[in-house]
Amino acid sequence: MQHTAGKRAAGGPDAGAVQAFASTVRGKVIEPSDAGYESARKVYNAMIDRRPALIVRCADVADVISSVGFARDHAMPLAIRAGGHSAPGFGTCDGGLVADLSAMKGIRVDLARQVARVEGGCTWGDFDHAAHAFGLATPGGVISTTGVSGLTLGGGFGHLTRRYGLSCDNLIAADVVTANGRLITASTTEHSDLFWALRGGGGNFGVVTSMEFRLYPVSTVFAGPVLYPLERATEALRLFRDFMQTAPREFSAFFAFLIVPPAPPFPEHLHGKTVCGVVCAYCGEPAAGEAVARPLLEFGPPAFAHVGPAPYPMAQCMFDPLLPPGLHHYWKADFVNDLTDEIIAEHVKHGPDIPTVNSALHIYPIDGAVHDVAPQDTAFAYRRARFTHIIAAVSPDPTPMPRYREWVRNYWSALHPHSSGGAYVNFLIDDEGNERIVASYQENYGRLADIKKTYDPANLFRVNQNIRPAAA
Ligand SMILES: Cc1cc2nc3c(=O)[nH]c(=O)nc-3n(C[C@H](O)[C@H](O)[C@H](O)COP(=O)(O)OP(=O)(O)OC[C@H]3O[C@@H](n4cnc5c(N)ncnc54)[C@H](O)[C@@H]3O)c2cc1C
Repeated sequence: MQHTAGKRAAGGPDAGAVQAFASTVRGKVIEPSDAGYESARKVYNAMIDRRPALIVRCADVADVISSVGFARDHAMPLAIRAGGHSAPGFGTCDGGLVADLSAMKGIRVDLARQVARVEGGCTWGDFDHAAHAFGLATPGGVISTTGVSGLTLGGGFGHLTRRYGLSCDNLIAADVVTANGRLITASTTEHSDLFWALRGGGGNFGVVTSMEFRLYPVSTVFAGPVLYPLERATEALRLFRDFMQTAPREFSAFFAFLIVPPAPPFPEHLHGKTVCGVVCAYCGEPAAGEAVARPLLEFGPPAFAHVGPAPYPMAQCMFDPLLPPGLHHYWKADFVNDLTDEIIAEHVKHGPDIPTVNSALHIYPIDGAVHDVAPQDTAFAYRRARFTHIIAAVSPDPTPMPRYREWVRNYWSALHPHSSGGAYVNFLIDDEGNERIVASYQENYGRLADIKKTYDPANLFRVNQNIRPAAA
C-alpha cells in the first residue's frame, strides 16, 4: 500500500475510513491532495474534466474487491478504468471512486489450448505483443492503446473481425467482481446468464478482473492505406460497398475521409490535403492478400497506396501516432443495413469538411463471422447490419470544438434517417439519452435489465451506458 493522507472533499468518507481502506490495498490510493492526482484523474479524452474523491490503482483482484466494497458501503459513484479510451469518460467520475485496473497487465498464453488469459488492465498493444510471440492473435480494435476489457465488453471489432468475429465472440470466460464483492467466473457453463450479458453489455455487471480468449494463427498480414482523390469519393464509396460484398472473410477494410498527415510515409504533395480511402488488412497469405486487393489498388488510380506485408502488431499500431491521449474528442455513430446511394451522397456532401488531421469519418464492415452468431446469442444485438459509421471530431485545441461538434451533429443528422436505429455502445457519447441505449440493444434490452437486477440490483455500476435493473 502507498497512501498519503491529505485534505479531502466534504461529504465523502472520513479520513479514518479512507486510511483503513487504504491499508487493505496493495496498489496505490490517490486522493485530490496527493502528488500525481492531476495526472491520475486524466482520461484519454481531454474534454472530460472530472475530480474523483479516490483513485485506486488496483494491483490485484483483492484490491478490486476492496474498492467495490468501499464504494458500495459509502454510497460513492464507482467508475471502472482499463484503457481509459471511453469517449464519454466513463473511466472517471466526480466525487466517487475510480477503480483503475491499468496496472493489472498479466497475460498468459496457453499454447496447448490456444487461448490467452488477460488481466483487466491490458491494452490491445499488450495483448498483441504477448500473442504475436507465438504467431497468434484474436480480434481487437485498430488502435493499440485501447483497453481490451472496455472494447470487448461493448462488442469489439477490428481487422480480424470478418474472419474470426467480434472480440466478445472470442471470449471463453471472465472473472468478475460483482456488486456484493464476490469474485465469480462467467462462461457457458458457470453463470451463463452473466456471460451472455458481458458479451456486449459493457461494464454494467461488475468489474472484470481477467478474461480468457480464443487465439488464431495470425502473424504477418497484408495491410495499409489506399488513398483516392476527393473527386472520386462517390465511386470509391460504391467500390468499397460492392467489393466488401464479395471479399473473402480474411480481407477487412474500412472506408475513411481524412486529412493526410504531414509526415512519412505520405508524400509531401499530399500533406494536409483532404482525401478519401480504404485501410486494408488481409489475415491470410500476404501474396494472396495483394491479389484480393487488386480492385482497390487499380481504382482511381490511387493518389497514394502504402500496402504490404507487416507483422500483425505493427499493423495494429498504424494510426497510433495520430491519436495520442490528451486530444479533445466528440463522436457520433450509427449502424446501417447497407451503404445505399442515398447514404453515399450524404457522405460525399459532409465527409470532405472533416476539420482536423486527427478527425475521421470511418465506415467499418459488420459482416462475415459477425453474422454467423444470432442477435439473441449475445448481448451485442446489431448482427444484421452491414456497416457502422463513426463521425469523430478530434482536436488538440478545445477552442474550435463547438464548431467541430456541429459538423459531427449535422453529418450524423443527415445520415441518421437512413440508419438501422441504434449504435455500437462503445461509440455512443453521453448526451444521447437512455432511448439510444435501449435502441442499441434492440430485443436484448429486456433480458439485460433482468440480468442487471440479478447481479447489480442497486445499480452500483452505473458510470457507463447504463442498463437499468428491471423493476421488481
Ligand atoms: C482511439 C480509439 C480507437 C478505437 N478503436 C476501436 C476499434 O477499433 N474497435 C472498437 O470496437 N472500438 C474502438 N474504440 C472504442 C472503444 O471500444 C471504447 O472506447 C472502449 O470503451 C474503450 O475501452 P477502454 O478499456 O480503453 O476504456 P475505459 O475508459 O477504461 O473503459 C470504458 C468503460 O468500459 C467498462 N470497462 C472497462 N474495463 C472494464 C472492466 N475490466 N470491467 C468492467 N467494465 C469495464 C467500464 O464501464 C468503463 O468505464 C476506440 C476508441 C478510441 C478512443
